[in-house]
Amino acid sequence: MRVLVTGGAGYIGSHAVRALSRAGHQPLVLDNLVYGHSPVVREVLQVPLVVGQVGDAALLQALLDGSHPELRGTPHEKRPIEAVLHFAAYAYVGESVSDPARYYRNNLGDTLTLLETLVARARASQPGPAGSSRPGTTGQPEAAEAVAQPIPIVFSSTCATYGVPQQVPITEEHPQQPINPYGRSKWMVEQLLHDFGRAYGLPSVIFRYFNAAGADPAGDLGENHEPETHLIPLVLDVMGGQRPYLQIFGDDYPTPDGTCIRDYIHVSDLADAHVLGLERLLRLRERGEPPREPLIYNLGNGTGYSVQQVIETAKAVTGRGLLAHVAPRRAGDPAQLVAAAGKAHSELGWRPRYPDLAAIIEHAWAWHQGALQTSRSAEG
Ligand code: UDP
Repeated sequence: MRVLVTGGAGYIGSHAVRALSRAGHQPLVLDNLVYGHSPVVREVLQVPLVVGQVGDAALLQALLDGSHPELRGTPHEKRPIEAVLHFAAYAYVGESVSDPARYYRNNLGDTLTLLETLVARARASQPGPAGSSRPGTTGQPEAAEAVAQPIPIVFSSTCATYGVPQQVPITEEHPQQPINPYGRSKWMVEQLLHDFGRAYGLPSVIFRYFNAAGADPAGDLGENHEPETHLIPLVLDVMGGQRPYLQIFGDDYPTPDGTCIRDYIHVSDLADAHVLGLERLLRLRERGEPPREPLIYNLGNGTGYSVQQVIETAKAVTGRGLLAHVAPRRAGDPAQLVAAAGKAHSELGWRPRYPDLAAIIEHAWAWHQGALQTSRSAEG
């Protein structure tokens, strides 16, 4: 299947591209490269990459129908895209507070353009006057039955849409009260998907990720954020000598050791879930039962580890020590975020392959060491 992967040059998106290729699908990456890395797509994954913005409707149209000039000579030339995995988003919580417009424009506004384009394309492919009415124009939306089915989309959402949990583990039914613009931008897209499903028959899966971590076990894909704010890569930077010390943001939380508890999920396991989610949507369509509401799944291991436990596990995996200082709490950090992920297990047959924190850190460390070697040999 030909799949458009927005944000496929980023951390989770690049692992999903690999999972798609391994499952026999043909990914095409659209990425603005603000945080993504083009060599990962072109050299490591070896799939077509078009650089651009998800909010560019003309570009989207050309990618969806295979007419974009950069698709010449690829499996996508003149062939329509059959599904979309939508990862492209900005994801720095602090920046979303200081510059919310950037987050709403990119994460929400551009996604609206993407969804409108998917629906308009289905309508355009419908013979007769039904093709004349588009979402976003005034007037009554047509009955969903009257239009051709839009292609399915899998959307990357986040446990940040739950806000401060009322109880853990967090099920998909837990109330959503996001506490920052990043979380709200993702929550708003979830609402769009509900409305577009009901009105236009847009089939979708919403995955709410807990803490993505680790790296492809092959060691050639991994986490490379600039700036880096995530715990595990920062711990490994300190252990590898790239940073002087780690700050532990708060040790007075109501948890056994006082540090925050998170549910770390291997990025390759997240990637696998996307293939399963997509395949479920396609099966439902083949059966003539396309969902009119998004299929929503938490993706986590269901086990929480404290910051202190992450540090101890990293010490055991790497054999290195770590200088850490306790710093004030970081604004907006709930004490505990742990997923109830039984729905993804039972409905998708998803079984995380690397649920152990030690395996997650081992893979992250292997990637970290390899990336360090590459940057050293590039400098030398
Ligand atoms: N954390 C920390 N020091 C750091 C970075 C993160 O103590 O330098 C803590 C953070 O407060 C949270 C946990 O590690 O409790 C995971 O944070 P991360 O930013 O990796 O993911 P988040 O849970 O914010 O998505």
